[in-house]
Amino acid sequence: MLAELVLSASLSVPGLPGPESRADYRMQVRLLPDSTMVRGAIEIVFLPAFPADTLWLHLYPNAYRDPSTAFAADEAAWGNYDFAMAGDDEHGWIALNGWTLDGRSVKPFVEETLAFIPLDSTAMPGDTLVLAGWFDVRVPVIWSRMGHDGDHYEMSQWYPKMCVLDGEGWHLGRYRSEGEFYSDYGSYDVTIRVPDGFVTAATGDADSVWFSDDSTCRFERWRASNVHDFAWAADPDFVLEEHNFMYPEALGGGAVRIHLAVRERDLDDWSEVGAWVDSTLLYCGEWFGAYPYGDLWVVQSSTWGGMEYPQLVLVGRFDPPFYRYFEMVVMHEVGHQWFYGMLGNDEVDEAWLDEGMNSYAEIRYFERKYGVRGNMTSLPGWISDASDADGSSASYVGMAAAGEEVPVISTSTDAAGGRYDYGALYYSKPALFMRMLENQMGTALFDSVMREYAGRFAFHHPRTDDFRAVAEEVSGRSLQAEFDTWLRSTASADVRVEGISLSGDSTFVTLGADVPLPAVLDLEVSRPGESRMERVSVEPGRSTVVAVPGRWRRATVDPETRYPDRAPWNNSLPPSGTIRPLVYPCDRPSRFNTWLLPVPGWADGSWEAGLYGLSRSASLRSGGPLQVSGVWRQPLEGGRAGVFGLELEVAASRSRRASEYLTWRTWMGYGREHSTISISRNLSGVLPSDPAVSMWVSGSLESVSDTAVSGGGRFTPGRGMVFSAGASRWSSGFSGSAFLSLRASGCPAWKDEEWASLELECSLASFSLPGAPETRLFAGRSWGVTPLQYLFRPGGGLSEGGPAGWLLPPDGPLSPSEHYFVESGPAMPGYGRHPGGGSIGVGLGGTVHMPSVPVSLFADAGWVENSTRELSEDDLLADAGVALDLGLVRAWFPAWVSDPLPGEDEWDFRWRIALSLFMLPVQLF
Ligand SMILES: [Zn+2]
Repeated sequence: MLAELVLSASLSVPGLPGPESRADYRMQVRLLPDSTMVRGAIEIVFLPAFPADTLWLHLYPNAYRDPSTAFAADEAAWGNYDFAMAGDDEHGWIALNGWTLDGRSVKPFVEETLAFIPLDSTAMPGDTLVLAGWFDVRVPVIWSRMGHDGDHYEMSQWYPKMCVLDGEGWHLGRYRSEGEFYSDYGSYDVTIRVPDGFVTAATGDADSVWFSDDSTCRFERWRASNVHDFAWAADPDFVLEEHNFMYPEALGGGAVRIHLAVRERDLDDWSEVGAWVDSTLLYCGEWFGAYPYGDLWVVQSSTWGGMEYPQLVLVGRFDPPFYRYFEMVVMHEVGHQWFYGMLGNDEVDEAWLDEGMNSYAEIRYFERKYGVRGNMTSLPGWISDASDADGSSASYVGMAAAGEEVPVISTSTDAAGGRYDYGALYYSKPALFMRMLENQMGTALFDSVMREYAGRFAFHHPRTDDFRAVAEEVSGRSLQAEFDTWLRSTASADVRVEGISLSGDSTFVTLGADVPLPAVLDLEVSRPGESRMERVSVEPGRSTVVAVPGRWRRATVDPETRYPDRAPWNNSLPPSGTIRPLVYPCDRPSRFNTWLLPVPGWADGSWEAGLYGLSRSASLRSGGPLQVSGVWRQPLEGGRAGVFGLELEVAASRSRRASEYLTWRTWMGYGREHSTISISRNLSGVLPSDPAVSMWVSGSLESVSDTAVSGGGRFTPGRGMVFSAGASRWSSGFSGSAFLSLRASGCPAWKDEEWASLELECSLASFSLPGAPETRLFAGRSWGVTPLQYLFRPGGGLSEGGPAGWLLPPDGPLSPSEHYFVESGPAMPGYGRHPGGGSIGVGLGGTVHMPSVPVSLFADAGWVENSTRELSEDDLLADAGVALDLGLVRAWFPAWVSDPLPGEDEWDFRWRIALSLFMLPVQLF
């Protein structure tokens, strides 16, 4: 009998809500800002829908307990040691005491972010279990979601919370750096006590407020029902702004009280947020059904992203100029009130159901509000036409190009530490999948599907197969193949226009379709000032010829990015492209985007006109097929040669772990000709902290005929072939990172002489102790009369061969060899200006990073044999100074050098800007 009952309960029918457990909470909690604690009493009434021998609770705040937690390991795997190095006062935890079950004392066994309580007898569906106890939460600083920033508190995933018990058993997801949550529905009755002066916001509605006898504390009683979580925030600087949103009669005519909780000083920045929330409530209401609660809180977060909780979203303002990012985050988090809030998805095992559907809603919001093109930017279309769908396409293209995707239906916490691209997999690809379904069914039918799905599963836990079953029922067609292909496999598709021809009064468009399933696509034909849209069907592995009435010039398949296409740049014939000033480099992967940047310069006593151009569909390292860049510079005075050059890069092979690139570069001017072909191969682990190896081989043909133009002494006149090869390896772990690089160059004939040079660098950065020195050992040797730009040099200057050399003048205050260098190789920042000229060099450098400020102290000493005359007679060079750490870039101020250049003092103001090779996937030379 029991077995039958269990079997029938767990075999719920796809498309209908099955039995679900329920958890109702009563809490009385108190915020103690002096000790950053929250103390509370809790009573949980748990109604299991399935038999249980044990009760399981989430204790999420324990993720922040110490560096041994799963969350901490994820952070370290990502290469982020901030949490590992944090002090105890920045950690957080939750402790339980005095717990009872149905009035009898019990002991919860704590396993990091989980706790379990064994039951004396099996609890059965229909039973009511009352769990009660005390809890203390130490609120950490904000590491991912919950935390405090001074007196600002964001209390999410903060209380002992029942795990979900469903037909699959208990869902015991731990708090990880990636992946979200899954909880049962219930009601919440929470009394929050805060020192008077704190302004609070929480899930639900504060239906009564009173004060302590001495008026120093305020009590607020918040209630919410049909929600699966409870979050709150408190900040003495919050001011509340409220307004009512009214649904039109067709959507029930209900009112929603919208509350914004914003720090007073930021109110101006938030002036449009209320209107964005209104638009979201209206649009999502029309598409998926009206917002079902009476209140919605939009709360300012101390972080720059957003996070959704039932009836409350936290949003940090991050507003890149001319980009609608802030609006996107507000819409996205409010959109989660449908996909997550009222449709209580399992965000761990089916993250696409909330993130993918919500991203679909987000794209639709921007298209409806601002049009299909350019909806993510307020710039005029001739500068940028970035749209939200382009973002999803670009992200999906990068993932598909890497070829190491996992299926969309996968455990999302496995993405922790960067094992795969969480955003592309759970947001972008499923958003395009939803747009594909919408196109196949037509918008009206698809909207019926979505309204039926949302209505039937409101306040339940729909699974992927529930959505499929509703979609099949409403549309009357089988979608099993679509769901299996796009969500349960990593199959991909490429549609393209293979030909366009005119015959009589018709245009014939040939479509190629490397698609796993038949697909319905949009085909746009256009001529200047006019276009026409057709809907066409394509079959796997077959070309389709479409006849369109009229004579058209261009054909574009899937012009509005409604299909998951791994190579959207071949969707147009003739290929489509744009030319824009390089102001706003947001790619649209479905065309070749060309940017032209005017770069006037000053070099060698003359003003120059300059133009830098870059053309690509998606950036090469995020999936694009090729990248072309070029430069042209022309002195405005005098008749000297300018510079022009071209660079072409293609990906020979690509994956998340190993990519090969082919580069061809040719450059002429300033009396110099230079042509290079190089091959590079990068190996990177699945985790960013895994060891990475980069190898490259390049050959170049060089000719230098006039050194005077480029400042004298910088190039040795002559002609020759230069071969360079190098390898570098770096790795990092919990205790530090190590970097080893080797670079060799040589030329069989340069000014009738042969030369070669070799450089080696070994670097060790220690993270285990704040303030521990990062050490670096460098050595080099050169043979023959080596041209200075190839010589082993304690300056370590940035080579002029790459784009930096195209953009920056060869001499003067912006010259790469004077002020910029790569933080690798035998660099001694104090000697940036003068190549060492030695044939043997060896040195040691050390950097000490100051705790908690982005400042470091450095010192180097190096020995150079055969110094050039510009350096002093002493062979040993030394320098010391202060550096400012700015992420990828470090600004160095070598205040002291042992051997100053003529006209300089030992103590002097000098500056250098260094690029860190640790972070760069590309070779800079
Ligand atoms: Zn989201």
